[in-house]
Amino acid sequence: MNFHKALMELSHSPEFINSERKQKLAALTALCATLLKVERVSIWQFPEQRTHIESEWLYTPDGAAAKASTLYKSDNPDYFSALESERVLSVPDAQNDLRTRGFTPDYLRPMNITSMLDAPVFDGARLSGVVCLESITYRKWTLPEISFVIAIADTISLMNTHEAWLDSKQALEYATRYDSMTGLLNIKSLRDRIGYLVDKLERQGRGSLALIWVDVDRLKSINDGLGAQVGDNVIDEIGQRLKQITVPGKDLLARIGGDEYALIIRNQTQPDKLEQTASRIRQVISRPIRLNGHSITVGASLGICHLPADCNTTEDLLRGAEAAMYNAKHKGRNQACFFDSSIQISARSRFELENELRTAIQEQKLDVFYQPITHATRSTVESVEALVRWRHAERGLLSPIEFLDVARGGGLMYALGECVLRRVCEHWQWARQHQIALPEVSVNLAPEQVLIAELPGLIRTICAEYDVPVNTLHFEVTEDAIQGDITAISDILGELVADGAQLSIDDFGTGYSSLSRLKGLPFSRIKIDRSFIGNIPDDEEDCAIILSILALAKGLGLSVVAEGVETEAHEKWLCEQGCDYLQGYLYSRPLPFDQLLDHFFVRA
Ligand code: C2E
Ligand code: CA
Ligand code: CA
Repeated sequence: MNFHKALMELSHSPEFINSERKQKLAALTALCATLLKVERVSIWQFPEQRTHIESEWLYTPDGAAAKASTLYKSDNPDYFSALESERVLSVPDAQNDLRTRGFTPDYLRPMNITSMLDAPVFDGARLSGVVCLESITYRKWTLPEISFVIAIADTISLMNTHEAWLDSKQALEYATRYDSMTGLLNIKSLRDRIGYLVDKLERQGRGSLALIWVDVDRLKSINDGLGAQVGDNVIDEIGQRLKQITVPGKDLLARIGGDEYALIIRNQTQPDKLEQTASRIRQVISRPIRLNGHSITVGASLGICHLPADCNTTEDLLRGAEAAMYNAKHKGRNQACFFDSSIQISARSRFELENELRTAIQEQKLDVFYQPITHATRSTVESVEALVRWRHAERGLLSPIEFLDVARGGGLMYALGECVLRRVCEHWQWARQHQIALPEVSVNLAPEQVLIAELPGLIRTICAEYDVPVNTLHFEVTEDAIQGDITAISDILGELVADGAQLSIDDFGTGYSSLSRLKGLPFSRIKIDRSFIGNIPDDEEDCAIILSILALAKGLGLSVVAEGVETEAHEKWLCEQGCDYLQGYLYSRPLPFDQLLDHFFVRA
């Protein structure tokens, strides 16, 4: 744990914070070499084309030097695929290990290197570089060492994120107009652009538009079969391909949902031209995608709608293209369909869902389930987390993954958050009126809510209305919510805390690693994302990451909740490591309010 303390001291020192990137890398690599007693520490970066990595900094005992060298993926496929798929490469016997033995003849043997410890650097979902430790003596790396190297990689990721943020003066504008995963524009930008072009067409009285809606086929089976990370990589790769494609009249490309993209075509909209464009798009998508040694081939269903031939407004153009896409799916996928007014009626579209959701929110029809969070040592309920549910008249009970994307796309997140908070307060008021003592309740806040200066005022108003003290509430905020304008966000969060609420950082470990960022913000708790819990205690990397999070939390004086605790083995390991609170199916699934009362709180 001394390692983490030393890193924390270094990375929070004003000299470090105010220094240039190269100096930061020099300080980090020197710290790493000294504490872990290794001879060489280097930092590598992926350039834009991801065919190779370039060294950015090399620390050696006889003086650090920035030295340029390059490693190609084609020469070292095993090493690169390990970088893409493993959180840390702990390699005691580097000369013989499958992942690194490619370096043996030309590098490891001449340099006398025996052991390696490498931690990939992730900027969000994107692999951006790697930290490499090389030792001449044989090293069986220990968990604290591994977790320290991960923390170094996190610190570099944080530097990258911060630099990227500084570079872009329009960071906030970026968050509202771009899709964070692929870097493509989002549906809001698409709507705005179509609106603008439609106005222009009307004014000029000539010209045409087509919207091509692209939906990747069977992405769900990739997610289920190969993991969500592979699914994300597929989405990203297809996004990049569509970005690079040249087709006549290409205007704006956006990612509009999980595995959906839309492309605006201007003027070049004769049916035969559009047909060629569509087949070009399908061709580009169907090229095999190579990921972690797998070769994946996907198809796509395309829907095409024309303005003014099929419709006159932005919304109708979107709706028409989507309906045509559904038609292509019904016809057996992997094809393109043109809009045809007869298909519109049968296709139930996202827009309908969005409208229904808007109504449900306005009418306060959303429900909230609750999941207990227990004390690790006492196994009593410490608090509960409120999780939104939607009882849809035809589709039944919907869970957030089924409708939050729609809410986000429709700009409904702020209103949804208000609706959830009202329902929670209503429940707590009811319990108090019936002499049932309930614990504190955690409510999730969306990034869209945390950006609004009026949020603390709204929360005070609602709490007053139901006579629920603000200090009954915890708010959970994800890492990506605190990426924008940090001073504004920190003011809003500070106000919530001043009013008595507590703040937790949610899904920790999945987003941008916010090592130092957290320090200035008034969080009192970290929730470790459930993806890290599933494979403990067998998965060394996950264990190392959890240890590193626990050390970080201790350093910052925060308590830690582990989510997704499903087995006694999870529970045992987490308790041994000093995790404070546990949440997961082992204790309870999220329950409707009345069942929560029946199961956990005796009714008076
Ligand atoms: P989250 O905040 O990470 O919430 C925990 C999720 O993990 C819940 O899914 C819960 O049912 C699930 N879970 C709990 N224990 C276990 C377990 O042992 N194993 C597994 N596999 N899963 C477990 P749910 O309710 O579907 O919510 C999904 C996400 O939707 C939440 O993730 C949260 O990000 C979001 N969300 C839910 N309610 C709200 C809300 O009111 N407002 C906002 N902005 N987001 C919400
Ligand atoms: Ca949560
Ligand atoms: Ca969570």
